Amino acid sequence: MERKKTSGAGRMILEKRQRSPLLPDFNLFSLIQRNPGTTAIGRSFCLASGLLYQLTALIKDGLNVREGGERVKLHFLGTAAAEGFPAMFCRCEHCMKARQAGGRDIRTRSSVIIDDILKVDFPPDTLHHVLRDGIDLGLVEDLFITHTHLDHLRAEDLAMRLPVYAHGLDHPLRIYGHDAAVRKCREAFGRPDASRIRLSRIVPFQTVDTGTAKVTALPANHDPDETCLLFFIEKDGKRLFYGHDTGLLPEETWAWLEQTTLDAVILDCTNGNLPFTGGHLNIEAVIGIRNRLRDKGVLAKDATVIATHFSHNIGLLYNDLTNIFDPEQILVAYDGMILNV
Ligand SMILES: [Zn+2]
Ligand SMILES: [Zn+2]
Ligand SMILES: [Zn+2]
Repeated sequence: MERKKTSGAGRMILEKRQRSPLLPDFNLFSLIQRNPGTTAIGRSFCLASGLLYQLTALIKDGLNVREGGERVKLHFLGTAAAEGFPAMFCRCEHCMKARQAGGRDIRTRSSVIIDDILKVDFPPDTLHHVLRDGIDLGLVEDLFITHTHLDHLRAEDLAMRLPVYAHGLDHPLRIYGHDAAVRKCREAFGRPDASRIRLSRIVPFQTVDTGTAKVTALPANHDPDETCLLFFIEKDGKRLFYGHDTGLLPEETWAWLEQTTLDAVILDCTNGNLPFTGGHLNIEAVIGIRNRLRDKGVLAKDATVIATHFSHNIGLLYNDLTNIFDPEQILVAYDGMILNV
């Protein structure tokens, strides 16, 4: 597990599923071999301290150590717009560069999972996310759907939670979405047994108490043909705003947000530095929203603002984005990024 303070924001802990440079693989056998003069007492000491060292590493890895008190784990499963980045069929120079660069320049369709039990959106890359990051999707209790665009709701795959396809589940998955999302789900898997899936229609400004979090649906400005939702998520004393997909926020959403405080804000940056917003945001608009939240006193003292949902059309790779956003103290999301806020 790699953990470091971020350079720009410098206030949350980043983790990646890698061996920590602070806790490297410890090979006791080779240590003793490299020291042939080691006495029996020395070897015992080595053995004891080595075991303690490995035990500490295992505990830290296993518990996903949270420093500085109660934190909420935000795990970014995908951070691309609908086509992926590199895009599925695209041969443009940006996609070519991203394919060559690999790592943080490989972006899949967007979703976030919070504390392993609350998920936002169910994109077509979900199986890939599960396999890539070792997610136990059977743990997820609540799934909130922002809207029905193909990169946010692959309803057919939710049927994989039904009998024959899934075993060993001990609770239902509760799914929440507006009417178009509910309709798409019904068409995909009908009305399954409530022990497996429970589907609820929600409307803007409705608050759902899941038992582990309170989630309020807020209007987006995205697709005029459906009621696209953004989510205000309150969990373990932390307040998060899941702000995509959307263009410039509706005033009614602003009015609601300005009554609260936020510890983390995730914003749509589909259009990068392209000179338009429409149903999505660009870099200028992300910074503008951050500034208004800050000026209105909505951002908590150590709040984290994160840009995500990037299109290949912007032609900006991860390093290009961090060069732009670091001075603004805005984080650039990447696939697999974990923040403890
Ligand atoms: Zn999208
Ligand atoms: Zn492309
Ligand atoms: Zn969309």
